[in-house]
Amino acid sequence: MLHKFPSIINSVQSSRIKTLNPCISLSRFCHFKVKEGSDSLNQPSILSPRAAQNNVAIFWDLDNKPPNSFPPFEAAVKLKTAASSFGVVRSMVAYANQHSFTQVPRVVREQRRERKLLNQLENKGVIKSVEPYFCKVCGRRFYTNEKLVNHFKQIHEREHQKRLNQIESARGSRRVKLVGKYSMKMEKYKNAARDVLTPKVGYGLADELKRAGFWVGTVSNRPQAADVALRDHMVDVMDRRKAECLVLVSDDSDFVGVLKEAKLRCLKTVVVGDADDGALKRVAEAGFSWTEILRGKAKKEAVSVVGKWKDRDILKRLEWTYNPEVEKKFYGSEEMFDDESKDQDFDSTDDGNRSDSGAWWELDTESDADLSELQ
Ligand SMILES: [Zn+2]
Repeated sequence: MLHKFPSIINSVQSSRIKTLNPCISLSRFCHFKVKEGSDSLNQPSILSPRAAQNNVAIFWDLDNKPPNSFPPFEAAVKLKTAASSFGVVRSMVAYANQHSFTQVPRVVREQRRERKLLNQLENKGVIKSVEPYFCKVCGRRFYTNEKLVNHFKQIHEREHQKRLNQIESARGSRRVKLVGKYSMKMEKYKNAARDVLTPKVGYGLADELKRAGFWVGTVSNRPQAADVALRDHMVDVMDRRKAECLVLVSDDSDFVGVLKEAKLRCLKTVVVGDADDGALKRVAEAGFSWTEILRGKAKKEAVSVVGKWKDRDILKRLEWTYNPEVEKKFYGSEEMFDDESKDQDFDSTDDGNRSDSGAWWELDTESDADLSELQ
């Protein structure tokens, strides 16, 4: 909330800075926003004015950290699950060069070869599947996989192509109507086709990531092209203040600069990679192993990291009781002091005024009073 409207907040702050804690003017501002469209007055912002929502953005360097033997859709979902420990995942992007999208990993090639062999044995009657294969579109049953595939291609793939052609040739409202009319059927087809048909190119990496909610960017096969695109995207998200926490999936030290930039801007940074003492993990505030994420084991660790961050944020809020000796003992030589000083640079007005604005738990009543003024 704070970051979205920097100019307005600055002006509000500058006019009230002498008498009010900026936190109050911020929550006041939130109410302007809320009142426009709804009647909600019990916004959490009143109760915890400093606890801004933590928006998370995921950046996945697919060239460096491909899902490998893991099915891409599942890998993407696991990644999102782990990242959501740090806040609300608002944006997910993945970049790779064309080669990554067209190649087929060894595991998938082996699976395909195995399927081909099974098909041959089934056709000869040497083996028989315990359960018949059934078509997920029309429900028909088949004794061999090859018969199912042929059926699917002859009936459903054709139907699907016809629908696509119809939509393609329609314009305006007719097009919209057709899309609406066919959307369920096309969805059903896509879900079924994933299991039956072999993708013509690659192994469906991009489609599977999109299905998991990722925005997928393809860049040229030039070396570093994906890195550059991903870095630009990260800077853009920072510039537009769309996230407070960046999760980067990569072991590529080319990202050190952009992570440092993120820290300078007081963003939280999390790196997912397998290099334990990698350059990125040394810069980021938290690091996870890609393998652990895929195994679904990172969640617990993430929760403990978030717990530490919360403690730190609370300490920041209670700065007026700040005792350097106690803090030093408590946190040892952690990098927190760096952060503190950056934070003060970033919104020094905030910290400068806290001492004479009363305790934070009093904000409640004050902001209520502000509200009644506004009404
Ligand atoms: Zn069918």
